[in-house]
Amino acid sequence: MKEFKLAQPMTLDQATSLLSKEKAGCAIMAGGTDILDLLKSKIIAPELVLDLKTVPGLAGLKEDKRHVTIRAMTTVSDLAESPVIGENFPGLKQAALSLASPQLRNVGTVGGNLCQRPRCWYYRDTDTICWKKGGSHCYAARGKNKYHAIFGSGICHIVYPSDLAPALISLDAEVTISGPAGKKDIVKLEDFYSSPQTDVRRENILEPHQVVSEIWIPLSKNNANSTYCKFKERGTWDFAVVSAAVSGVVSNRAFSDIRIVCGGVAPIPWRLKKTEDLIRGKKVDAAVIRQGTRAALADAKPLEENAYKMDLLEAVLDAAISSLV
Ligand SMILES: Cc1cc2nc3c(=O)[nH]c(=O)nc-3n(C[C@H](O)[C@H](O)[C@H](O)COP(=O)(O)OP(=O)(O)OC[C@H]3O[C@@H](n4cnc5c(N)ncnc54)[C@H](O)[C@@H]3O)c2cc1C
Repeated sequence: MKEFKLAQPMTLDQATSLLSKEKAGCAIMAGGTDILDLLKSKIIAPELVLDLKTVPGLAGLKEDKRHVTIRAMTTVSDLAESPVIGENFPGLKQAALSLASPQLRNVGTVGGNLCQRPRCWYYRDTDTICWKKGGSHCYAARGKNKYHAIFGSGICHIVYPSDLAPALISLDAEVTISGPAGKKDIVKLEDFYSSPQTDVRRENILEPHQVVSEIWIPLSKNNANSTYCKFKERGTWDFAVVSAAVSGVVSNRAFSDIRIVCGGVAPIPWRLKKTEDLIRGKKVDAAVIRQGTRAALADAKPLEENAYKMDLLEAVLDAAISSLV
């Protein structure tokens, strides 16, 4: 690993001012479960690592009448164990518990989970200079692409690996982005992610001087329910090959409101709006689910080795949607 300096700021303002000064030469570290791998394998080589753990007040959850707020440094374990999350957002709890191992959940944070880098083996290989690292090729396009995207990839075929992102987007969550001098922007988490076509080097809209400080989930006024269904290749810790987060309001087996977001299939968490439109308002049965999932799959462009993800997506969607009606 290349030597770096470590900064341990005592306020969010100090952190964002440092980021602003150092720009691309600085990397943010939260729990460190992803970034340390990137440093050790020299995928990134910053001059300065900014440790967010020393900033007080960046962890924990709070609730008011309209929202649950999750601070970015909340660990995934604390999220999963929070009664307010379990009662109001069962899909988010399932997503948190599906993620990595208990040890990693005890250390990994929600902010880190939402900003983690892709697991593509070409990107993670020190000697391969792909698009994401300043090269001019996506080696997955014609190479080993079993785990790559079937939707929305264009020039780069990564899948976004986060389990929490699809669950939070299905709940219509927003994210607070903090910059220097107390500046804050709040954006829908759905709009936080950006496709490779926008900027192949990054996966979200964060500028080098910004950090994710909070995530907000609206509390449902009409008893919405949610679920998260994840297909992994192994029985132990593993990333999603395909996952589906579904949230909605159901009465008499029909959704009056439904949001479906998939993981493991596209460079960003992938919302299935056509499927939502086909399912909303209908009494859900196998035929309605099939019609909805087939509409989603019509947009898929599988690569040589990953057409199997289409069957998996159908199965995962069926399981997730059926479990809510
Ligand atoms: C063996 C293993 C298995 C895993 N399995 C899964 C899995 O099944 N599902 C899954 O979703 N993830 C998985 N992960 C990925 C990762 O460990 C978790 O997502 C974890 O929650 C990341 O959080 P962290 O705090 O450790 O992030 P860090 O490693 O500290 O940071 C990750 C990235 O986010 C950036 N970052 C961190 N916090 C912020 C912030 N507040 N604002 C802006 N940028 C920030 C960092 O600069 C870095 O690029 C796994 C990792 C490992 C090593």
